[in-house]
Amino acid sequence: MVNFKKARERMVETQIAARGIHDEGVFEAMRKVPRHLFVDEALRDQAYSDHPLPIAEKQTISQPYIVALMTESLELNGAEKVLEIGTGSGYQSAILAELADRVFSIERHPDLAYRANSILRKLGYQNIIVRVGDGSLGWPDDAPFDGIIVTAGTPKIPQPLIDQLNMGGRLVVPVGDRFGQDLILVRRLAEGIKKTNLGGVRFVNLVGKWGWKE
Ligand code: SAM
Repeated sequence: MVNFKKARERMVETQIAARGIHDEGVFEAMRKVPRHLFVDEALRDQAYSDHPLPIAEKQTISQPYIVALMTESLELNGAEKVLEIGTGSGYQSAILAELADRVFSIERHPDLAYRANSILRKLGYQNIIVRVGDGSLGWPDDAPFDGIIVTAGTPKIPQPLIDQLNMGGRLVVPVGDRFGQDLILVRRLAEGIKKTNLGGVRFVNLVGKWGWKE
């Protein structure tokens, strides 16, 4: 029987801190959120391993290190309104909910959104709203956002997401072809948009109006 609490501590130490993530809030959130509950029962003993895992609809729950890197890049302090594109399992939403004020998450597959919402409710999260739809269009009704995280790869940064970013806000998005992308951090500053490349990643496709066609 795996000791999940110990597995989480080991994950933070060996996969996250050891690779240069230093945000103590991110460590705490990753020590707390029970990642094994976001994957199929048959995969629970692999939930804290150093790789992504399959979820329904041929999608994935991202590698823990990538979750940490993307979360840290948003520099959350607890007051933010954050938009996540690609709810998937709901794990990243839970991590964001530990560190921000409110999380809005969009998933295009209704059954994934339903499952994620149900586990997030069971865990008691009250600051996350999950919706079904094309997240490449953003979430105009509740914009602007202080942070936007796109957990699927896109050929170009969807313009609606840039438009829905608050002044001083941060957007992190994998941009590239269908098989590999660069993780781009976009900051919206008074003088314009500033982009930083955080390195190579490999995500499933963002499918939607401003992403890939189906
Ligand atoms: N954040 C997720 C987690 O913690 O499990 C990982 C998500 S998975 C790598 C990417 C997700 O993006 C998939 O569930 C996929 O269905 C979803 N997706 C792809 N295109 C989308 C779109 N246009 N709008 C919303 N969700 C989308």
